[in-house]
Amino acid sequence: MRITDIREATASIRSDIRNAYVDFSQMTVSVVAVESDVTRHGRPVTGYGFCSNGRYAQGGILRERLIPRLRAAEPGDLLDVEGGNFDPRKIRNVMLANEKPGGHGDRAVAAGALDMAVWDLVAKLGEQPLWRLLSERYNGGAHDDQVMVYPGGGYYYPGKGLDRLQDEMRGYRDQGYKVVKMKIGAVPLDEDLPRIEAVTALLGGGGDLAVDANGRFDLATALAYGRAMSPFGLFWFEEPGDPLDYALNAELAAQYPGALATGENLFSLQDARNLIRHGGMRPDRDWIQVDPALSYGLTEYLDIIEMAETMGWSRRRFIPHGGHQLALGLAAGLQLGGSESYPGVFQPFGGFADDTVIEDGLARPGEHIGIGMEAKATMFAEIQRLVGG
Ligand SMILES: [Mg+2]
Repeated sequence: MRITDIREATASIRSDIRNAYVDFSQMTVSVVAVESDVTRHGRPVTGYGFCSNGRYAQGGILRERLIPRLRAAEPGDLLDVEGGNFDPRKIRNVMLANEKPGGHGDRAVAAGALDMAVWDLVAKLGEQPLWRLLSERYNGGAHDDQVMVYPGGGYYYPGKGLDRLQDEMRGYRDQGYKVVKMKIGAVPLDEDLPRIEAVTALLGGGGDLAVDANGRFDLATALAYGRAMSPFGLFWFEEPGDPLDYALNAELAAQYPGALATGENLFSLQDARNLIRHGGMRPDRDWIQVDPALSYGLTEYLDIIEMAETMGWSRRRFIPHGGHQLALGLAAGLQLGGSESYPGVFQPFGGFADDTVIEDGLARPGEHIGIGMEAKATMFAEIQRLVGG
């Protein structure tokens, strides 16, 4: 068994939305195909991956470093001990050979896309949905039939007033979501508070509303928002300050009684460990949002969960960023706390398989073999156009 080809390309996920830190007018993702010499139904079994959203395509790193290392490897060095399937951990180690420690950023994003394609391939060769393979290998056979999901929405958009914000949230409720999320921090607090009030009025309270500052605030602003938002009893207050400012996070956690959530811009085991060590995160209420498709992949994510559990955290406190089928599958197979969802943004890559039903804020992972990339028709058509299949 060997890898016969690895293809990568850049896809656009541009849109007019913005959060407190960036707009998405130039946003792209890397798309990767890893083709094997195993054929089924007359076609090579191929895994597909992409790098979630928010950090741009990483074609240079893929083309110049990660893919050539895999092409140069002895085929047997990429297989599991039985030789019956590829070993994602061995592949990860080969693709990241000769990379210095630290500085986890665009390299982790490139690896995340490639690692997703590898896991898709491994599950397809095993003729299983990825969530079931993860359940059997890493979770004693246990899994969740339903996963808590929430739409990452409430973006700032040109001309979007309170009515349209409420309409958006009402739409999510009509689609079956319970918890919803909105952006804050792109306007001053006295302009954001009416936005929050409009949504909590619609929802009948703040318990099902998460807010996301996308790392915008300094400590004083984070504390001011925290004081102003405490009475709402929000579901969580996400990424208040810079993702690497653990002291800011710890100070806010000491003063803000509600739940905090962060981690989508931490890209490694080491950074996630530092968040738990130094960020003041409280294992009884806070949430960790590392995105496996941005942070060296599912392979690294398994290490992050193990690290967190040895430090007294439950994996139920993990709700990955990204709103993709990989996150839904690993949340089900590893029994995490849930997954983000993108019913309306980052198309065609945002969101789950087309047949995913959301009821009472819960999604079923489905029985698609592999990650289920083929079951999201518009996305898979774009993947095929870009990297074949
Ligand atoms: Mg966020």
